[in-house]
Amino acid sequence: MSPKEHPTAVAFEEALRIILEKAVSGRETVEVSVVESLGYVLAEDIVSEIDMPGFDRAAMDGFAYRHADASLGDTFEVIGIVAAGEAPEIALGRNECVQIMTGAPVPFGADTVIKVEQTAPQGEEKSNAIQQVRILSNPSLGANIAFTGEDVSAGSRALDAGRMIRSQEVAILSALGRQKVRVYPGPRIAFAATGEELVEPGRELQLGQIYNSNAYCLWSQVLGAKGIPHSLGVIRDNREDLRQKIGEGLQHDILVLSGGVSMGQFDLVPEVLAELGVEIVFHRLRVKPGQPTLFGVRGKTLVFGLPGNPVATLYAFDQYVAPAIRLFRHHPQPRATPFQGELTRTVRTKPGFLYLVPCVTAWREGRYLLTPLKPHGSADIFSVSGADALALIPAEAGHVDQGQTVTFHRLFES
Ligand code: AMP
Ligand code: MG
Repeated sequence: MSPKEHPTAVAFEEALRIILEKAVSGRETVEVSVVESLGYVLAEDIVSEIDMPGFDRAAMDGFAYRHADASLGDTFEVIGIVAAGEAPEIALGRNECVQIMTGAPVPFGADTVIKVEQTAPQGEEKSNAIQQVRILSNPSLGANIAFTGEDVSAGSRALDAGRMIRSQEVAILSALGRQKVRVYPGPRIAFAATGEELVEPGRELQLGQIYNSNAYCLWSQVLGAKGIPHSLGVIRDNREDLRQKIGEGLQHDILVLSGGVSMGQFDLVPEVLAELGVEIVFHRLRVKPGQPTLFGVRGKTLVFGLPGNPVATLYAFDQYVAPAIRLFRHHPQPRATPFQGELTRTVRTKPGFLYLVPCVTAWREGRYLLTPLKPHGSADIFSVSGADALALIPAEAGHVDQGQTVTFHRLFES
């Protein structure tokens, strides 16, 4: 079906639902270093090869002793001192204790650690070493000792495949002695800007020409979303060039094009896509900016045709392409996280369209305030400079007044 026969424009939520339904999760996995795995999803169960802790370790600075020997007020002989990292070669006899530091192995014969604050040194201190201590409280048996395997035992599963790796997982993997880990890589994403008027930055502009900013914006968004970018360069508005470069782009997991999807005479992208066997799933949204956004599928390749206006391209990638990338990467939450915020200014819209309104957020007295920027139309990328969020102004509204609460998405969520 040609896009011009496609009268049904799709609502924002519906578009997302369709995209996430057609999107596929990547099957490949790669091994990366643990630090590089940040922000990727685990593609393997992590079974611990070691006990954690690997030995009975003191959880506090204090004195290790045998619980059965002690009554409140008893005095113990301090027969040695153990620091973290030391293997103690001491065995305790009756009424003997050792001074012990947090993280040090508890010596043979001791079963309890009393915190240093709950003891009093006795007798004379010789060469700074405490000779005797008196016990000022009576901790329970085993107090202040983290026992072998208490956190994780050897052979047990510490992390499940599918877990998003954040810094705490980096810490866990490293604590288990791992240096490498298997994750799901991002999709291979071919991208290009279309247009006769485009000139690469670094060259000189002639009348009627503009710098190609969309390709670089898309490139950065692909990188930010952990996709693997493949630049197809600039595509000119002729069938020949479109066919050739789109053909190459369709060999990737995702193809993102900017421009050429509107109603102009040279907006040939939908036609060429259809000719190359792409099923156009939707073309036209009830969303502004970005009304002519196109989404298609060929085999497992997803195709996004984003309107050329820089603001529309930026938002459309963020709102429609990024969730598909997250799904490909097995992200547990492919959709943008919804937040609520209070508008500091009234926003007027045309009923029938959901508006994506660029905002600057501030956290004040337990809630987000959303200050809408004043966009000068979707061609003006300067007008959205500094925006960190998009407010979703509902389709039926017509206007949403200052002080009203609306849903917003963070721009560039990863
Ligand atoms: P189009 O969707 O192809 O009709 O493009 C709409 C408008 O967006 C054009 O007139 C240009 O002003 C602008 N535009 C298109 N492509 C780019 C690009 N790659 N970089 C910057 N602006 C663009
Ligand atoms: Mg164009």
